[in-house]
Amino acid sequence: NETQVNAAAHPYPVYIGENLRHHTSDYLPKDYASILIVSDESVSNYYLSDVMAGLSQENVFSHTIPAGEQSKNINTFYQLHTKAIECGLDRKSLIIALGGGVVGDVTGFTAATYMRGIDFIQMPTTILAHDSSVGGKVAINHEHGKNMIGNFYAPAAVIYDVQTLYTLNAKEIRSGYAELLKEALLADKNLYEDLIAMDLNSLDSQKLIQHLTKGIEIKAGIVEVDEQEAGIRKHLNLGHTLGHALESLLGYGAWTHGELVAIGMLFALKISEDNYSAELPFEEIYTWLRNNGYPLQLPNIDPEMILAKMKNDKKTLNQKIQLVLLRGIGQPTLLEINDEQLLTYIS
Ligand code: NAD
Ligand code: ZN
Repeated sequence: NETQVNAAAHPYPVYIGENLRHHTSDYLPKDYASILIVSDESVSNYYLSDVMAGLSQENVFSHTIPAGEQSKNINTFYQLHTKAIECGLDRKSLIIALGGGVVGDVTGFTAATYMRGIDFIQMPTTILAHDSSVGGKVAINHEHGKNMIGNFYAPAAVIYDVQTLYTLNAKEIRSGYAELLKEALLADKNLYEDLIAMDLNSLDSQKLIQHLTKGIEIKAGIVEVDEQEAGIRKHLNLGHTLGHALESLLGYGAWTHGELVAIGMLFALKISEDNYSAELPFEEIYTWLRNNGYPLQLPNIDPEMILAKMKNDKKTLNQKIQLVLLRGIGQPTLLEINDEQLLTYIS
């Protein structure tokens, strides 16, 4: 299954299928003399040797970083540059990000800056990374904020082997599927119907290929029109204003990104219903999330603190919170909401 993404810098192919990792060479857009594969500890245990064996090039190197969000920092970034120099990578070399969004973001940012930019390829191994691997945003965190240091840098290709997704734990599956549900709500009623009928305990490859392809097409379609997020790319933040605020208040670990985005989407759905008297399937979504084990009960947090965090968001304009709401499935819209109204929903 092949989809093309037309990024501003250059178009790139997205391959989605089974067992692609065993034939990685077949999907490279060029013949690279040297390749550095970056992955994290869990992913490298499972899949690094498969990918190495699937590359026919002579100079293939690898580097493994600790798993988790705390690796998305300036030290890892610097270590990756050191590794690239030690391996003798030049401007004609390739860096492959084999992993989830963390590996993709820090590796992509390394590729964007190493010798002013060399090719990189995303090999996503999480469902959530369907989102991070297209759209060209690469970044590391600063201690004062997430994704504070970064760039827009499109990959040369995305190679998505759905067979790697079966080793994900339930929380990571929920995290990725929340983001797919978001894309469905933004743009695709059929995808929505398909997702809402699903049981996340029984993944199947054909469904995964279908869902990830759709999700990527929706994201790519939005990003192609508005790469720099001046307009409709903002719609991709559905559920994220509250989701990000909760993420920074709860820390990383107990809750995944998507689980908090799911709570953020329920919140946006409620506000949408009240503001547009829209017929939205709030109950259906709530039930589906609950049945699939999404934690929907928030720990006790002071609503004023949540509100303050929401205002801290990079995307907040002059202290006014602008939320992505829905007039219906496939009809996203932006609305400025005042503090009092917001507080009644988070309390
Ligand atoms: P992640 O990369 O930390 O992966 C989650 C966990 O799953 C890790 O512990 C990892 O080791 C493990 N894992 C990965 N693949 C596995 C596999 N196949 N089998 C078993 N375990 C596996 O996190 P994520 O959820 O993929 O991505 C989150 C990151 O993505 C965040 O840093 C977020 O900011 C970023 N992100 C970026 C964009 C973007 O546009 N660049 C978009 C969305 C999210
Ligand atoms: Zn997200």
